Amino acid sequence: MRRGRALDAAPGAGAGAPGAATGVGTALLVDLDEFVELSRRRPTPEALALVAADIAREHRFLPLSVADGIAVVVAADPSDVGARAAIARLAVTRVERHRADRADVEHGLNVHYRIVSADDEQVRQFWAEASPQTSTTVAAVADAPIIQLVNRIITQAHRDRSSDIHIEPTDGRLRVRYRVDGALREVLSLPLTVGPELVSRLKVMADMDIVERRRPQDGQFQATVDGHGLDVRVATGATIWGETAVLRLLDKSRSLKALADLGMPDETRARYLSIIHRPYGMIVCSGPTGAGKTTTLYATLAEINRDELNVMTIEDPVEYVFPAANQMQINLQADITFASGLKTILRQDPDVILVGEIRDHETARIAVQSSLTGHLVMSSIHATDATSALYRFVDMGIEPFLVATSLVGVVGQRLVRRVCTSCADTYVPSDAEMSDYAALGGPTKTEFVRGGGCEHCAGTGFRGRIAVYEVMEVTEEIGQLVVARTAPHEVREAAVAQGMRPMRVEAAHLIANNLTTSDEVHRNVFIAGSTYVPETATRKSTRHAPKPLKVPKGTKDQ
Ligand SMILES: [Zn+2]
Repeated sequence: MRRGRALDAAPGAGAGAPGAATGVGTALLVDLDEFVELSRRRPTPEALALVAADIAREHRFLPLSVADGIAVVVAADPSDVGARAAIARLAVTRVERHRADRADVEHGLNVHYRIVSADDEQVRQFWAEASPQTSTTVAAVADAPIIQLVNRIITQAHRDRSSDIHIEPTDGRLRVRYRVDGALREVLSLPLTVGPELVSRLKVMADMDIVERRRPQDGQFQATVDGHGLDVRVATGATIWGETAVLRLLDKSRSLKALADLGMPDETRARYLSIIHRPYGMIVCSGPTGAGKTTTLYATLAEINRDELNVMTIEDPVEYVFPAANQMQINLQADITFASGLKTILRQDPDVILVGEIRDHETARIAVQSSLTGHLVMSSIHATDATSALYRFVDMGIEPFLVATSLVGVVGQRLVRRVCTSCADTYVPSDAEMSDYAALGGPTKTEFVRGGGCEHCAGTGFRGRIAVYEVMEVTEEIGQLVVARTAPHEVREAAVAQGMRPMRVEAAHLIANNLTTSDEVHRNVFIAGSTYVPETATRKSTRHAPKPLKVPKGTKDQ
């Protein structure tokens, strides 16, 4: 595998501050040292123009305002000598220095010093040069502006916490969109003629065939952005308007979450802990793509991992490197599938096995068998909730009595977007929204909260996501119901009677605590009383159906 390349996005990338802060001034630095809550502050354009992006980023400070020769800045680390020197070099007579949370300063830098924008000089240049007659040759790939454009698109995507980048020719223009917190947003519009060059550049980076423009291709490359190692998977395809490219970004340096940090309510977490510390059996995480299943599985692995256990995984792809585990990755060219990888693992004396996903009979059968022969098996499955996950195994041809005896716990989960704290405001809901909320079973409430949209959340009103969980223990009673092929809603009722807090109830609590909105919950959490829909049956209600799956090939949860 190739080493990660550092994406040089610097030249001309200083967002509207060409030639700023080159060390002309010697300002009097005054430490006022008040703590500034940055989420509701907006730096003035004059202040931003005072400091070049790369200097502000290197020394982690953000200019807020400048007037009459006096600048106000916030610094993440007030004692940083380099930062103090850089601040003192600003071209003003006096700088009043305050402090702010480091993560907030970094977020502020990402938000206010954008390197991908329609006002950008380079983007304007692309438009100016665009003419319908321009034909693209392979040689154009080496053109520096394209290389820089690609680097900047990837860098800004990472700074915006995007999971995917979509590059799509449409009728008359090339659209660039980021997927942030599960939702796509447009970040750039380019001339259609840039498309072939841009896609060719990506193909070069990902070792793909640049001559082949019609057949879909897959590739990957490593990149380094702001010191973070990124694994970028590229998938190209052709639409009627031309070739599209979808990039999936995986930050290999992001930290592993502990079980305690997943946001499970105490009661749910206690129930889950009691299940995962069993010596054998199968634990399955269910939900649609992008529901955070992988994060839960890794946190679980971190919780149960001990030196005396042989932990083995088969994944597609390996998303976190787990030093203490033996991790394998799916490789279709080498015939390593979930099923064949699992067989290999079983020959190597494992105690704990993580199978990235169960989606076929063969894998399901081996996983069930392994859990019945003294191994703890963890996996994920595409199912709407905990109850449906049990029946997904039956759908995949596993005998109900094997499902009942092998599964010990099933987690149902979703991610809902968190209301942006920078632009959150209260409002009185409509009657329809109130009755939707009441249907969830939330506590009485008259005022709700929603985000109006600001630059911190790119106008969406949401920033970050929160998980919604339900944890079902597969008790003897639940097992008997499955063996008797009882209707799924009855299995569900039995689980609730045994203390399972359904996702619906958890979601209502998030709304009650002003963390998310009723609309967001209805869009993401499957709510109807009986959630299991057999594959042969017609779906009755689409209102509360989960979002359609995105980018099927090679996709994984965050
Ligand atoms: Zn906002």
